[in-house]
Amino acid sequence: MTAVPEEAASMLRDGGLVAFPTETVYGLGADAFQPAAVRRIFEAKERPANNPLIVHLHARAQLLEVAASVPPVAEDLMGQFWPGPLTLIFPKHPDLPTVVTAGLETVGVRMPRLPLTRRFLAACDTPVPAPSANRSGRPSPTHWRAVAADLDGRIECILQGGRTEAGVESTVVDCTTAPPAVLRPGAISVEAVRECVGRVRVATPDDRTAPRSPGTQHRHYAPAAQVRLVDTPADAVPASTHAYIGLAPPARPEAFGRTHVAADCAAYAHDLFHYFRACDAAGMEIIFAQTVPPAGLGRALNDRLRRAAAR
Ligand code: AMP
Ligand code: MG
Repeated sequence: MTAVPEEAASMLRDGGLVAFPTETVYGLGADAFQPAAVRRIFEAKERPANNPLIVHLHARAQLLEVAASVPPVAEDLMGQFWPGPLTLIFPKHPDLPTVVTAGLETVGVRMPRLPLTRRFLAACDTPVPAPSANRSGRPSPTHWRAVAADLDGRIECILQGGRTEAGVESTVVDCTTAPPAVLRPGAISVEAVRECVGRVRVATPDDRTAPRSPGTQHRHYAPAAQVRLVDTPADAVPASTHAYIGLAPPARPEAFGRTHVAADCAAYAHDLFHYFRACDAAGMEIIFAQTVPPAGLGRALNDRLRRAAAR
């Protein structure tokens, strides 16, 4: 545990696993060019071996260490959204260890925006593959305490920041296809991506012909409590072991064990995974979660809610 990015970076360079905050959620990183260390990310998280990792950079100059080529559409997206919560898929560089991409010929790359992350990545001075720093399937960590709860004893270091700003993961856009395709909705809206590059495809879970991102097939983001989706708070069943989260308030909040009403989608996303973990700590058995209008950040929010509720 440390609050000093240079200390954390030196542990990573020694082959260690380091959890660190970003503007989306906390990540669990290793040196991309030490395959044994990268393999330990999968072990620590109990992550399925077919789920590739996103590589984090601090400088554009590092891109050609991990990607074989950079399509023009990616130049536009990087110009507008990097540094920031946008992951781009490129053809993989042949020298990048295959464990990073779970054997795929493509690699996901992003450049975080949070100053603490950038200082850490600069000190690492190597590309850092890092999935979310939770045990696989659990809610992504939005606070270092959530990382510790899931991974203590399995990793070398947690770089402590505060609570993460977005609370949902990066948007993933495949730049190797024409038109480019959104593989995972996230902190940057599909509308903003479309405005930047024109036509984009959006992969949906039921679209069997659409390009897929391996990680989006897994049940994910789930607390121990059962998550049930509701369109309105009137559909949530009150009880002392039931919780409710949504944009609209329930008629009788005191009839629930816990309730949380978010002011807008950004606040909902910021609080969602934190709330899931708080509900588990309080022994809630069912969490009723209100779905939101499927526009802007609402797409990412509905995606996380649907997958948390999947069985
Ligand atoms: P996580 O970092 O745990 O939020 O998961 C990373 C996400 O990025 C998963 O959904 C992966 O499937 C996706 N991803 C990473 N690399 C690739 C790639 N080369 N092609 C498609 N999806 C990818
Ligand atoms: Mg994850």
